[in-house]
Amino acid sequence: MKRVNQLSNQSSECRLKVYIRTFGCQMNEYDSEIMAGILTDDGYGLVDDTSKADVVLLNTCSVREHAEDKVWSELGRLSKIRENKPLTIGVCGCMAQKEGAKIIRRFPSVSLVCGTHNFHQIGELLNEVKTANPVRGKTSNRVKGIVNIGESEKLPFFRLPVRKDGRVSTSLAIMRGCSKFCSYCVVPYLRGKEKSRGPEEIIDEIVHLTEQGFKEFLLLGQDITSYKYKSKMSNEWKDIDLSYLLKEVNSIDGVERIRFITSHPSGVTSRLLKAVSDLPKVCEHLHLPLQSGSDRILKLMNRGYTRDFYLNLASKAREIIPELSITTDLIVGFPGESEAEFEDTLDVMRKVGFDNAFMYKYSIRPGTKAAGMKNEVPENIKKERLRRLQEIQREMSLKRNENFLGRRVEVLVDGTKKKAPSKLLGRTRTNKVVTFKGEKGIIGKLVDVTITGACQWTLQGKIN
Ligand code: SF4
Repeated sequence: MKRVNQLSNQSSECRLKVYIRTFGCQMNEYDSEIMAGILTDDGYGLVDDTSKADVVLLNTCSVREHAEDKVWSELGRLSKIRENKPLTIGVCGCMAQKEGAKIIRRFPSVSLVCGTHNFHQIGELLNEVKTANPVRGKTSNRVKGIVNIGESEKLPFFRLPVRKDGRVSTSLAIMRGCSKFCSYCVVPYLRGKEKSRGPEEIIDEIVHLTEQGFKEFLLLGQDITSYKYKSKMSNEWKDIDLSYLLKEVNSIDGVERIRFITSHPSGVTSRLLKAVSDLPKVCEHLHLPLQSGSDRILKLMNRGYTRDFYLNLASKAREIIPELSITTDLIVGFPGESEAEFEDTLDVMRKVGFDNAFMYKYSIRPGTKAAGMKNEVPENIKKERLRRLQEIQREMSLKRNENFLGRRVEVLVDGTKKKAPSKLLGRTRTNKVVTFKGEKGIIGKLVDVTITGACQWTLQGKIN
């Protein structure tokens, strides 16, 4: 099934208006884009606030308890609003997949639960909701709910709906699901096992997007380095991997930059590093989750590598791609993590010198292997370890950013700075945010900027 959608800014009074609020990762952002495209095609208007909406869809995340708590509390707030205003409330994504009908039992005001395999059916599902609840204007907090969390055989892929709002960067899923089963993670249970999308279809979609003006492509996959697809080429079946796909995308006219996330350390081959180094459009950035620097904890996490493997990989990657920036994910307070094991993580951090890191306290995810592990680390210790981790990362990010001072870098101009609209904002090839003064007419263009200032999160520059 292929769809080409154009999200319109027009919102006629008679159209139903939908607000899609996204929680969690870039895959969720991408799924929200697809839902937005489908619904505008179906005649809905898009709005950016609950107060203007007839339909609110929460596209949810279950990776951490905290993310789920935010959604439960938002559902409480929406149910209150619904007491005074007709509002269709839908829950989509990971929490919908995980909790199913329980969401409606807890919040009878919710009329749609749409799982991770069904977001492409959002238009039909909202029609079913309308049919099941014909009287609009009724604000009772008890509605007939529709639940759709079944997994279909085929991947629900089609062209990404195109939003013509001046953006030049977009995401694109090249695979879905994950078969790694890290012991703390719910993704394989909620998004299913890994399934890759065919290269022809991916290339067709990218060509289409370049025709719409997109220049930078972020290829998405929960475990993208496992991408593989059997394809018939010159009458022979061949296994296509991520390096091959990058080469194909690199040759598409109109593509200026290619990024990809998330790489599992065990899947980063020399061939892939070579592809990043050799292909001019592939950006020099790897998001390479470490999670822990302790071999015992990595084993309990079922990560499939050791600290030495990771350290060697990081140094090999920097050798092959000297400009490479490496970012990571880290978890503190995994069950049984001792102070010495936590310090092993600090040690690997210092040795690698990450450009940036997403750092979290371990959060129990029911149904995962780690949820049954004993020796939970007390909350106050987790908090303290997180604080120490963040402090070190702040210093390292600043140091890595200061290396750019005085250098001239290529920046893709994304837009204006929210809090200072007179300033422009863009990203380097190494995924660092740069702010600088310039004419709005260069938004969407690649420009050279000399870096004049550096702080922990951003660089400041002067256009050449
Ligand atoms: S690689 Fe591990 S952490 Fe990442 S999505 Fe798969 S199971 Fe989860």
